[in-house]
Order: sequence, then structure tokens, then C-alpha cells
Amino acid sequence: MSKGILFVMSGPSGTGKGTICAELLQKENIFLSISSTTREIRKNEIDGVTYNYITRDEFEKLIKDGEMLEYAEYSGNYYGTPKKSVEKMLNEGRNVLLEIEPQGALKVKSVFPEAVLIFIIPPSMEILRSRLVERGRETDEQIKERIEAAKWEFSQACKYNYIIVNDELDKCVNEVADVIRNTAEQRNFLDKLLNELN
Ligand code: 5GP
Repeated sequence: MSKGILFVMSGPSGTGKGTICAELLQKENIFLSISSTTREIRKNEIDGVTYNYITRDEFEKLIKDGEMLEYAEYSGNYYGTPKKSVEKMLNEGRNVLLEIEPQGALKVKSVFPEAVLIFIIPPSMEILRSRLVERGRETDEQIKERIEAAKWEFSQACKYNYIIVNDELDKCVNEVADVIRNTAEQRNFLDKLLNELN
């Protein structure tokens, strides 16, 4: 059986990554990896579903024990991808989606060069700012921090395989879905060619 494909999605806070991922999980043959974080749980989030919420001590132990495929500090909190569960899903032939920020995404690319990196951008900074304000999840100070983080994140986008604008949600989801399907088709075809040679 062929290994699954690892897809990594990033984009500044407020670009709509969460909604895009939720739609993709419904439509596509792909599974989301659940990250661990030390940030506080928000209203409407579920422990073990949105994230595994753990303490800094617990997180640092996971790092020390080599249990994290990658991790990063973002806005004063740790976020990280569990190594074992991602490897298990890929070995079972399942396609896996990580929704993580660029430091982590580029680390993943160094460990899995065959991973496909997708960067989502907003149509303008003005729209990004108003989406952050309208969703009302962060304080003014946190919004400022996230806009500041966006500057560096944009500078990393050129290292990704695909850059997709989230102007209209459906269009953006379809474009990402095409990337997933086309990559799966290409990889299957390559496997077939390689099998013919063996
Ligand atoms: P939020 O607090 O809004 O849920 O996430 C903040 C940022 O952390 C987002 O850019 C999100 O993509 C990123 N993130 C979530 N999980 C992970 C992870 O496991 N690793 C890394 N490096 N970033 C993550």
C-alpha cells in the first residue's frame, strides 16, 4: 500500500484556515492531525478535538521525549504536532492535513521533503484586520500581536508549494481540494511507474 500524503496549511490568523480545513475534512479523503497547545481553551472549542490542551510542563516533557514532529511558540504559547499519530496515519495510507504556522511547517518540510505546503492569504490587510475584529475571539492587544506575526508569516509564503487567496470561501476550498486531488493522482501515477520498473 502507498503511504499517505502529508499536506500542511498555514496562513495568518484571520485568513479562514479553520473554516477551510473543516470543509475539506467533509469533502476530501483527508484526516486532520490534532495538535497540542498550552493556550487556554476558548468557548466553542473541545479538548481532544480542537486541540489537546496541556500545561507548559507537560508540553516541555513531550519535546524532551522526542514526541513532537515539530513545535513552535506563537503569541506566548506552545503549539506542536504529535509525531506518532501523524506517522501512523501516513503509514496506514491516509492523507494527513496539518494546520500549523510557518516555523512548524518549514520544519515539517525539512523532515518530510515530500510534504505539500499550502499558504492561505487574505485578499487585503484591511480585510484580515476586520475579520479578526469581527470574530471577536481576541483582545485588541492580541489582534495587534497577530497582525505583527502576519508580517513575518507573509515573508515565508514564497517557500510554500502553493499560495491560495481566500476571497470567496467556496472558491478557495475548491482550489485547495484540487491541489489535494491532483497531488494524490500524480503520486499514484508515479507509484505505478516505479512499480513497473521493479
Ligand atoms: P490559534 O491560537 O488561533 O488556534 O492558533 C494560532 C496559530 O498556531 C495558528 O497559526 C495555527 O495554525 C498555529 N498552530 C496550531 N497548531 C499548531 C501546531 O501543532 N504547530 C505549529 N507550529 N503551529 C500550530
